[in-house]
Amino acid sequence: MKALCKTKPEKGVEYKDVDLPKIKDDELLVKIYKTSICGSDIPVYNYTGWAPRRIPLPFVFGHELCGEVVETGKNTKGFEKGDFISVESHVFCGLCYQCRNDQRHVCSNMVVLGLDTQGGFSEYAAIPARCGWKHSDNKLKEIASIMEPLGNAVFATLVEDVAGKTVFVEGCGPQGLFAIEIAKACGAQKVIALEGSPYRQKMAEQMGADAIFSPTEEKLLEKIKKASGDPSGVDVVLEMSGHPDAVRLGLKAVKPAGRFTAFGLPGSEMTLDYSNDIVFKGIKVEGITGRQIYKSWHVMEGLLRSGKINPAPIITHTFEMKDYEKAFATMMDPERKCGKVVLIP
Ligand SMILES: [Zn+2]
Ligand SMILES: [Zn+2]
Repeated sequence: MKALCKTKPEKGVEYKDVDLPKIKDDELLVKIYKTSICGSDIPVYNYTGWAPRRIPLPFVFGHELCGEVVETGKNTKGFEKGDFISVESHVFCGLCYQCRNDQRHVCSNMVVLGLDTQGGFSEYAAIPARCGWKHSDNKLKEIASIMEPLGNAVFATLVEDVAGKTVFVEGCGPQGLFAIEIAKACGAQKVIALEGSPYRQKMAEQMGADAIFSPTEEKLLEKIKKASGDPSGVDVVLEMSGHPDAVRLGLKAVKPAGRFTAFGLPGSEMTLDYSNDIVFKGIKVEGITGRQIYKSWHVMEGLLRSGKINPAPIITHTFEMKDYEKAFATMMDPERKCGKVVLIP
């Protein structure tokens, strides 16, 4: 089968023939319908940051996947040939303290498909059956690969309720755009967005943001508080950018006893005014990683099927997998003129 394979310890990948994966007894063989590129695929592609330490070579990456089950391992239950699935990329063990305490998203033995094990930028992939999310019909088929990242935003946005609240979304990449739409759908009073790229500012507006500011604006904090309608700040900050300045700004923008949800990843250690911005303000800081398995998926499916959210416009580019160089160049565009980028094997 054809796959995007990293064969050398350097930038770039090859689109080449590799062996069809052999499934284990608890796995499904899935014929990939669509896959999408995650921000975390970029260090793998460029072989920078954590990637050289983490990924084995040769390596097929890609973890936002959907497709049709074409073979089932003998110990799998609940799946049959022809089922269409999305994939939970976080392979939880099911046995550790967290897994047995309804906290599978922070499993102590977590393995991520396509980062720690062979992934799905390929025609077929072996998927542990416990990571399959079965679709009952074809209604969500065209967006099925982006349910994995959408689930992150569902978890981050709705970890506590947003109804009637002012929400400040920092960073309008796909995660921020998803979060804007989810917050609006779930009754947020006002959604304020932070984004520097004009292309993504426009997308934020389309997803329903009530006010959009650029990180380079003067008197930014004052403007955000004014837009929220409360001089003490916003009720909820969703930090989706990982930029240290945005993290610090968000901690200043949230009102005393408000909620700061941390999802974006700064590239290194950073400083912040811990005493004044967290302790004395009495705010709640909540880290978000992955999706609640499978609570986030159920909530997401309900929001999608009811039509409360429609993330399809956030898919701005679709390429055939053989055109992967164009796809990755689009993802790495310095002006960030893209939303989600999808690859078709
Ligand atoms: Zn990802
Ligand atoms: Zn576990």
